[in-house]
Parts: sequence; C-alpha cells; structure tokens
Amino acid sequence: MATKKKQVARELLFGDLWEFDPAPETAPAGIADRYGLFIGGEFVAPKSKKWFDSISPRDDAKLSEIALAGQADVDAAYAAAAKAFPTWSKLPGAERGKYLYRLARLLQDRAREFAVAETFDGGKPIREARDFDVPMAAAHFFYHAGWADKLEYAAPGRDLRALGVVGQVIPWNFPLLMLAWKLAPALALGNTVVLKPAETTSITALKFAELIRDAGLPPGVVNIVTGAGETGAAVVRHKTAAKIAFTGSTSVGKWIQRELAGTGKRLTLELGGKGANIIFEDAAIDQAVEGIINGIFFNQGHVCCAGSRLLVQESIEAEVLRKLKLRMKSLRTGDPLDKNTDIGAINSKQQWERITELVDVGASEGAEIHQPACELPKKGFYFPPTLLSGVTQSHRVVKEEIFGPVLSILTFRTPDEAVEKANNTAFGLSAGVWTDKGSKYLAVASQLKAGVVWGNSFNKFDPTSPFGGFKESGFGREGGRQGLLEYGELD
Ligand code: NAP
Ligand code: MG
Repeated sequence: MATKKKQVARELLFGDLWEFDPAPETAPAGIADRYGLFIGGEFVAPKSKKWFDSISPRDDAKLSEIALAGQADVDAAYAAAAKAFPTWSKLPGAERGKYLYRLARLLQDRAREFAVAETFDGGKPIREARDFDVPMAAAHFFYHAGWADKLEYAAPGRDLRALGVVGQVIPWNFPLLMLAWKLAPALALGNTVVLKPAETTSITALKFAELIRDAGLPPGVVNIVTGAGETGAAVVRHKTAAKIAFTGSTSVGKWIQRELAGTGKRLTLELGGKGANIIFEDAAIDQAVEGIINGIFFNQGHVCCAGSRLLVQESIEAEVLRKLKLRMKSLRTGDPLDKNTDIGAINSKQQWERITELVDVGASEGAEIHQPACELPKKGFYFPPTLLSGVTQSHRVVKEEIFGPVLSILTFRTPDEAVEKANNTAFGLSAGVWTDKGSKYLAVASQLKAGVVWGNSFNKFDPTSPFGGFKESGFGREGGRQGLLEYGELD
C-alpha cells in the first residue's frame, strides 16, 4: 500500500528578488502655508497672535502654520455658534439635510486631495486614507443627511430638539473621520458646534472648513479652533456649551468628567481600549490571521478599538504564530504616500517615543519580541510591526494601551477562560471572536464587556452602527440612531 506523503504547505517567498517598484501618490494635497481659525464662516487670525507648526510624520518636514486659539478666540467661536443657533435649529430638517448632503458630495468631489492631505498630515498609508477615512467620512454625512428630515422617527411619539452649542474635541488617529462622526449628527439635529482637532492633525479639519464655506452653511454653525490641550480645555470648560463630546485618551476623559461634574452639561466620552481578538481552534485559521493583522496593524495600530491583545487557543498557538510571522514578512512599512505601503508613519515623535518605551518595558518584563526584518525610512517616525509573546495579564504591555503596531499574545484553553481573560481589562471598547460555530460565537460575544464584538472579522465600521465603550473606554454612542439621540433633548 502506498504511504501517503505528508503535504507541506507551500509558501510564497519573494525575498529581495521581487521588490515592488515605488508607487508614489502624486496628486496635490492642497495644503495652504498658513491656516487661521474658522469662526463665523471665515478664516480669521487668532487674537492670541500665536501660531504653531504642523509637521508631517512622514519625513519630519513642516507642512503648514496653524493658528493657536487662546481663550478670547474660543470665546469668539462660542459667540458665533450661539448666534447661529436659533436660526439653524429652527430650519426645517429637510433644509439642514440639504447642507449635509452638499458637504458629503463636496468631500467626494475632492476625495483624492483630502486623502493625500490626511496622509501627509497624519502619516497613515494613502491606501487607507483613500479607501477608508475619506469615503467613510462622506458616508457619515450622507447617513445623517438622511436623518435630518426624519427626526420624528428617531424617537417615535416624542419631541426631539437640539441641545444648543456643542463643544467637540477629537484625536489624531482618524482626524477627518472623527470630525465627521462628531459634526454630522450634531448638525442633523440642529445644534451648532465649536470643534477642536488634535494639534498634530488639524489640516483636514481646516480643509473641511473650506467645504463648509463652499457649501454655504450659515456663518457660525460650525467653528473650528485649533491648538493643543489648553485650547481643548477652554472648549470643554466654556459656559456656553450645552454638551461636550470628546474622543481621546482615558486620562483626559477622566479630567473632563471631573471638570463637568455639577455643571449640567451633557457629556459623551469615547476613550481608549485594549481589545481582545479571540481565536478558537475551530476557526478558519488563514482568515483569522488576516483578521489579526488587520486588527492590530490598521492605521499603525493607532486605533482605539484595535485588537491589541491576541487570545489564541493553546492547541493552535504554534500554527497561528507561524502563519502570523510569515504574513508579517510581507507587510511593507515605510513611506505612507506609497500605494504599496501597509504600515505608514507613527503620527508624532511623542507617540513614537511612547511606543518605544512600552516595548522596552515589555522586553524588560521578559516578553519575547518578534519584528520582521524591514528597512525603515531614515527621516520621519517609523516603528516596525511587533509581536510580544511570553507575556501574562499582569504585564504592562498587556494592560496598557500602546496605540501602535504592537500585538501582545496570550493563550487560553476553554471558552470560559477566553471570556475571563478578554474581560480582564479596565477598558471595554471592542473584541473579535473567530470560530466556525455560530452558537459559540453568540455564547462568547454575549459575555464580553465590549461596545462592539466582531464575528470572524475585525475593524468593520458603518455609519448606521452605534460605536462606543464600557468601563474606562467611556460612555455614549456615535453612529446609528443611538448616536443621533446623544445630540438631542427628548420632550
Ligand atoms: P488625547 O491626548 O486625550 O487628545 C485628544 C484630544 O483632546 C486632542 O485634541 C487633545 O489636544 C485634546 N486635549 C488634550 N488635553 C486636553 C484637556 N485637558 N482638555 C480638553 N482637551 C484636551 O488623546 P490622543 O492621544 O490625541 O488620542 C489617542 C486616544 O484617543 C487613545 O487613547 C484612543 O484610544 C482614543 N480614541 C478613542 C476613540 C473612541 O471612539 N473610543 C477613537 C479614537 C481615539 P492635542 O492633542 O491637540 O494636544
Ligand atoms: Mg501633522
């Protein structure tokens, strides 16, 4: 009888023989040398008379000069928003909807330019800016435009009215998309807005201000004040604000919650995360490996809902790790403007230092570090994709949000152990479950304390689907009917 030969899985190894040619994106980003504050429908010089440089993490080169809003500027922005509120909130919803549709279409018209600007400013791969950030931002405006004339169906039998002027502060990981998540529902309901983008990524918000102007939005409906944490604090503290919507770190979120206590202002907080990506032995392993890669390396891991803790069933640990390392060999880290790039630049020097420090901590705590060989650009801020194995739940790299392309690997034996380990975190934003069995997925997902649980997928987003956290990941939802209702008063 012929003995059956053991099949060895074939691997495609291109090595250095098959190097990609560079495929640089060359469309102009349309970035101005200088941006003022956007207040009352126009760009104005800051009363503070201060400006700061915006640099590109791609090569550490200066991109533009941006106004730094002081207290008097934030006051002016709130005054413009308060003045615009009575008229804007009383417009028929269908009219507000038209403006939102117009914004969505204007963004689509200039999609390529916005994608290039987002990549220059924040360092994310052009592929992601082009295929995810910009279209998804437009989708949020389209979706909420659709709500604007159907508000009576958002809360049947109740009256839903705008809150007033809303202060919004956003982070640097999805600059344009976070702006869309914040502005679209607020405007659909008839609120007016003062928004502060992150210091390192203000450019697409200021370019979006051009669209607001081009769309003919009444002056003062949206005001954009740029600056660092102090500007954010002035936005949060302002007495005119009826609500604060914040996305950012848990530490700043906690400070805001303390600051707002007793003021009667509404508050939603979208904070950090340390998502568990759980792989059961019955999962389709190759698909799960793609899901692990996407879960942690999307946007250099600068993702609040990243699957930064891999929980893999012990029986398949060796196989998953082998396949994961093989897949990581083919990831291309480098110039984010190159269309072949998978992992772009780390958003800022400060963030690069934080990632480096935490990985060093992991090493000193005994983690085994795996990084594929890759040549990083000499200028700019880059960090290779990294696996940390041999870690336990008490390691800092397992507990703290690293917010970079760094995955910590843990194992489990039973579904109960997987649930316990996944929930053993201060955060509660996201999780992924990979299994061939629907019943197992439902049983596990229903026990996970996370705002979103993906099944056999990861990092999937849709404007209709509410997103938000439990525990130290914050409260309140963005997206869907639930997200819309956060911007209204129910009578
Ligand atoms: P961050 O330092 O908290 O900053 C977020 C925003 O708040 C920035 O615009 C920042 O300004 C501003 N800010 C800083 N100090 C402030 C203060 N005292 N008062 C008011 N505003 C203040 O967070 P980040 O490092 O930019 O962003 C990363 C964090 O955001 C991660 O923890 C991530 O998980 C979280 N995130 C959460 C979600 C979610 O939906 N849950 C989504 C994306 C990101 P400057 O940066 O300009 O100084
Ligand atoms: Mg920048």
